[in-house]
Amino acid sequence: ASAWAKVPQGPPDAILGITEAYKADSHPEKINLGVGAYRDDKGKPYVLPSVRSAEKKVVNAALNKEYAGITGVPEFTKAAARLAYGADSEVIKEDRVAITQSISGTGALRIGGAFLERFYPGDKTIYIPTPSWANHNAVFKDSGLKVEKYRYYNKDTIGLDFEGMVEDIKNMPKGSIVLLHACAHNPTGVDPTEDQWRSISDAVKEGGHYPFFDMAYQGFASGDTAKDAFALRHFISEGHRPCLAQSFAKNMGLYGERVGAFSIVCESTEEKKRVDSQIKILVRPLYSNPPVHGARIASEILNDSSLNQQWLGEVKGMADRIIKMRALLKENLEKLGSKHDWSHITSQIGMFAYTGLTAEQMDKLAKEHSVYATKDGRISVAGITSDNVGRLAQAIHKVKG
Ligand code: PMP
Repeated sequence: ASAWAKVPQGPPDAILGITEAYKADSHPEKINLGVGAYRDDKGKPYVLPSVRSAEKKVVNAALNKEYAGITGVPEFTKAAARLAYGADSEVIKEDRVAITQSISGTGALRIGGAFLERFYPGDKTIYIPTPSWANHNAVFKDSGLKVEKYRYYNKDTIGLDFEGMVEDIKNMPKGSIVLLHACAHNPTGVDPTEDQWRSISDAVKEGGHYPFFDMAYQGFASGDTAKDAFALRHFISEGHRPCLAQSFAKNMGLYGERVGAFSIVCESTEEKKRVDSQIKILVRPLYSNPPVHGARIASEILNDSSLNQQWLGEVKGMADRIIKMRALLKENLEKLGSKHDWSHITSQIGMFAYTGLTAEQMDKLAKEHSVYATKDGRISVAGITSDNVGRLAQAIHKVKG
């Protein structure tokens, strides 16, 4: 018999399944709101002009293709840390951030999971919000951590279950690992306010917990990279020493280039050196060292002041288009006479909106209106355009009644 005769058929990836169904649909005005990738107002993938310029510079420099070190391109990781923690951050000035380049945000989470599995002195359980990005559970389980949940989303208010979240954090066993979406929570688009973040920081501190930030959308949420880093920076100002997964997939549109970073805030430079040595020992047998091209592009953008200015404008442009599409969707629903309260569409932030539609209603959207998105009612606002927002509102209005 074949060695693989007993390998069971696995289920297809939920998002890729949507793309398949969308592709097979012949409706001329079909809409795909499944994928988490930015589209311009014509519905086309968007390469940032700053990325085009940076890439030209990289290519023109005719650099060699030698391996980077295990932790990647140093000019990139240094700049990535400055972007996240802030150029004047004490943890950077005091040289106590251990950082490595990673295979985008997913790879950063995986390195973090593996590091915690190997070295975290407390219980190796990580608490993630309900719901969370679907891959969190799989990444942390495969890293050898136990995964538990804390309350996050309140389906009645289509908003944050703030009391539930804080209560759950307080009730976790002392010294638990808590995963926090730094901004633009995926899939709900629901973020705590700055005041709520202050209370969450207090609760994490009270429990003696360890905060793990996943920051996949810095700048992409509000259009302002500092504002989107508020939670992370506030935690640090409160004395927490978190770890951080960064992705440049969304904010630089570098998706397939796989540019990211994983960092750990340490107590001292000496501790940073020890942590850094172990990150290297961990990464070496995983993939040896990361790809250089995307990191060189990101490095140009982060380190060249005029390209950096340009990029900040372009990130804001993407964030603004998304914010505008949220407003247009809500406006169109109201114009159609919808009696439902759609204010959550505009109060949510980032790539996704949680519509509050049920799985059956999402099914109807696909079957009767050729509008495709995940069953949980999440739509990618990036897939909405000036041209399709009217038809989308009509479809939602019809299935919601
Ligand atoms: N975390 C969250 C919450 C995300 O939404 C994503 C992207 N969908 C990621 C991490 C990582 O994505 P990538 O590996 O493409 O950077």
